[in-house]
Formats: sequence, C-alpha cells, structure tokens
Amino acid sequence: MTACLFCDILSKKVPANIIYSDDLAIAFDDINPQAPQHKIIIPRKHIPTLNDATAEDSALLGHLLLTAATLAKQLNIADTGYRVVNNCNAGAGQTVFHLHVHLLGGRQFIWPPG
Ligand code: AMP
Ligand code: ZN
Repeated sequence: MTACLFCDILSKKVPANIIYSDDLAIAFDDINPQAPQHKIIIPRKHIPTLNDATAEDSALLGHLLLTAATLAKQLNIADTGYRVVNNCNAGAGQTVFHLHVHLLGGRQFIWPPG
C-alpha cells in the first residue's frame, strides 16, 4: 500500500482523467476545479513536498514548470494568462503530500491570493 493518492493515480489504482504523460510526469484534471481549466501536474517520483526536493531534482522541477507552459498553450490559456501554484505544507493549503503544481486558467485571478 502506497498511502499516497497521487502514486495511486500514477499506478492507475485510482482513476483520473490523465491529459498528459511522459517519462517524468503526468497531468490530470483536478477533481474539484477552482477555475474553468484546473490541471494537476505531478512528477512520477514521489517527493512529499517542495521542502523535500534536492538539487538532484532541479531538472525535474523545471520540467514541471515547462509542462505547465506547454499545457497552457494547448488549453489556449497561455495568452490570456494562467497561474501555476505549489502549496507547500498544510499552512499553505497542501492536502496531498506528493509534490505537484496546479495549472489554473480560464478566468481572471486576483492578487494577493487567499
Ligand atoms: P493541494 O491542496 O495543493 O495539495 O492540492 C491537491 C489537489 O488535488 C486539490 O486541488 C484536490 O482537488 C485535488 N484532488 C484530490 N483528489 C483528487 C483526485 N482523486 N483526482 C484529481 N484531483 C484530486
Ligand atoms: Zn506519491
């Protein structure tokens, strides 16, 4: 038992609408979307939080951001604007402890975030 929801999505134990997959990462629809477009991008490697990433993960972290930009273009939200979010630990709202970035778009965002 992995006891990690996103590892279970990676292994297909838990279903998700996977919209992108490569050797390092996958992306899928967020089950509780906070914007017209809300995707979750996760590394195949289980890293609990951004705090647990090391210099060895530098390319992987970059890949997550570049994947977000690629998907934003495919989803036609690149020009209007989109937000890429990592919540690190409970105080920032992290609920699934497998590092991920949210890609949100299709509506106007405000700053500062809530
Ligand atoms: P965070 O709160 O930053 O840890 O983000 C976790 C995200 O995962 C939330 O936006 C949830 O809506 C989303 N989520 C939780 N369970 C699932 C699931 N089974 N499939 C897709 N997204 C999920
Ligand atoms: Zn995991």
